[in-house]
Amino acid sequence: MKELSIHASNHSYKVQIGKGLRHTVGSMIAKDYSHVMIITDSQVAPLYLEDVKHSLTGTPIDTVIFPAGEQAKSMSQYEELLTACIENSLDRKSLIIALGGGVVGDLAGFVAATYMRGIDYIQMPTTVLAHDSSVGGKVAINHPLGKNLIGSFHSPVQVLYDVETLQTLPYHELRSGYAEIIKHGCLDDPDLFHDATSRSLADEAITEVLEDHLLKGIAIKASVVEQDEKETGIRKYLNLGHTLGHAIESEAGYGHVTHGEAVAIGLLFAMYVSKEKLEASMPIANLYAWLGKQGYPLNVLTHLDTSSLVDRMKKDKKSTSGKVNMVLLEELGKPVMMEVKETELTELLNRFKE
Ligand code: NAD
Ligand code: ZN
Repeated sequence: MKELSIHASNHSYKVQIGKGLRHTVGSMIAKDYSHVMIITDSQVAPLYLEDVKHSLTGTPIDTVIFPAGEQAKSMSQYEELLTACIENSLDRKSLIIALGGGVVGDLAGFVAATYMRGIDYIQMPTTVLAHDSSVGGKVAINHPLGKNLIGSFHSPVQVLYDVETLQTLPYHELRSGYAEIIKHGCLDDPDLFHDATSRSLADEAITEVLEDHLLKGIAIKASVVEQDEKETGIRKYLNLGHTLGHAIESEAGYGHVTHGEAVAIGLLFAMYVSKEKLEASMPIANLYAWLGKQGYPLNVLTHLDTSSLVDRMKKDKKSTSGKVNMVLLEELGKPVMMEVKETELTELLNRFKE
């Protein structure tokens, strides 16, 4: 098992990562709690819920299972979970355990952030993508008019990452999460970038390096967040690849491409813009070839309209007054923020699509 300490504004917490942690959760929880509620989804529950429950002997436990998928990050599901907290008499000394991917983490985390003005929760990520979502303290649900619009900053008291659970993750979910590992490599660890993009994700041997890649990704995210918890400065760098990524996700329709698949194409585009505007030397051809081999849907852009994509990029939360703020790279490991004008962006995107 490996561990890492993260310093949030009002407390520090540990990320522990290793094989089989779901069997030892009970002995790893640092504090005594009067009551534990495990929140998970319908796909993860049959796989891992019993193991976690078994390890928690001696503490009263309740479990809540909601239907898997992004649509669960809704007002109505949030309300149902709060109702479960009240009906099961959770109090301020109770603990919530979020067992699952980013959806469970965001939803259960937001319940923990708001129930009785905030109670403790532990993240138990079970997807690769959740290496990103389980640290940093951002928790949220969606509004019908936009993603992650209702949320809060509430860091977990612990992150317990059992990498064995990733063995049951569908390949396209593994691929989706890996885009964020590669993003973290681009931001601060060129070796991580090169190592990750030199391996085949479908290869069995990937499980051997997964723990290392996840921990490095978490360390990078954690260090950015520690310097800028509330996103007034460098936390924006984490948006690398997301300006176009978010536009692709919404333009293609959620569910048609995964978040990570869209981010992967966004990363390529950020590299292309970096090369064009900053004359940065970027491993574009390598990344393109690797993404293609892993089955990322690289042709999705050709079906999408450039001006609609640019419109969406202008509306991105991180953009201001019509201009698009993009994270670019001076070189691998050196991000910068740069304003790109609409006309220029349109031209760059058209050339990139070719
Ligand atoms: P997810 O939680 O929906 O998981 C993807 C699918 O895999 C689901 O169907 C889930 O049931 C299933 N699954 C999970 N673990 C499994 C396992 N071990 N074996 C088999 N199946 C498993 O999605 P995700 O990709 O983990 O997370 C996406 C969410 O994370 C989005 O809502 C996004 O907004 C959020 N997010 C939040 C942050 C943050 O900082 N809070 C950062 C990035 C993403
Ligand atoms: Zn992302």
